[in-house]
Amino acid sequence: MIISDYHIHSNFSGDSVEDLKKICDKAINLGIQEIAITDHMDLDVIGISNSLDFRLNLEEYVPTILKLKDLYKKDLDIKLGMEFGIQRHLGIKGDEIIKKFPFDFIISSVHSVDKLLLDQKEFWEGKTREEAHDKYFLEILKSIESFNQFSIQGHLDFITRYGGIDKKGFIDYIRYQDIIDEILKKLISKGKGIEINTSGIRYNENRFYPCDDIVKRYFKLGGEIITIGSDSHKASDIGKDFKKTYDFLESIGVKYISSFDLLDVSFKKIK
Ligand SMILES: [Zn+2]
Ligand SMILES: [Zn+2]
Repeated sequence: MIISDYHIHSNFSGDSVEDLKKICDKAINLGIQEIAITDHMDLDVIGISNSLDFRLNLEEYVPTILKLKDLYKKDLDIKLGMEFGIQRHLGIKGDEIIKKFPFDFIISSVHSVDKLLLDQKEFWEGKTREEAHDKYFLEILKSIESFNQFSIQGHLDFITRYGGIDKKGFIDYIRYQDIIDEILKKLISKGKGIEINTSGIRYNENRFYPCDDIVKRYFKLGGEIITIGSDSHKASDIGKDFKKTYDFLESIGVKYISSFDLLDVSFKKIK
């Protein structure tokens, strides 16, 4: 049984055309108890793909999701969420925006470094794969230091999705172990979690984001907060590969996943 899917995009995101009711109906069909709608807000990115708009109109988005929450309350627990594209200079701004609305759950995701999206070739130009990954992990660490109003760090090592098909899905955990430890310790000290994002399987990366080693390390260091998200941009991807995720968590002795209301965490037992 799928307890919750905490990473779902709808047509409020610049890269999705999915209808919100279709999302809810799919979740109910799968027997899911809780979903978080987490549409994209990415600010201050230069040269963002011409056709895509990653600003999010919260004045329209928030009331729409709240209405949906009410409409479906008997069958589905819908959380007002957002995936905030964090960069180190956006922490204060992000905090201000989020405080204005009754968000249940916020994903902090680094999609851009130096105002360049990771899928833009400009980001990769003149850098080795290692230099690009160094910059990416440092940006995560710096952004966590600057940002407070979030629940979990999104797809922590998903940078392998970009920068060419060489070594697809491979993250050199040993090379980045020190900075990843710093990131995880900082998250734990701020009471923040991580997610297991199952989209890596769909992107043929043959793994979740982050890799198993990072998830194990987070718990080893004392972390307790984890959500599972499909990162679906279409309803048919909701809940994909969750069974595998529950089995993995069980295999490493994790018994609870997290649930959020108005940014407060609670825990649900994995059965
Ligand atoms: Zn993302
Ligand atoms: Zn996403």
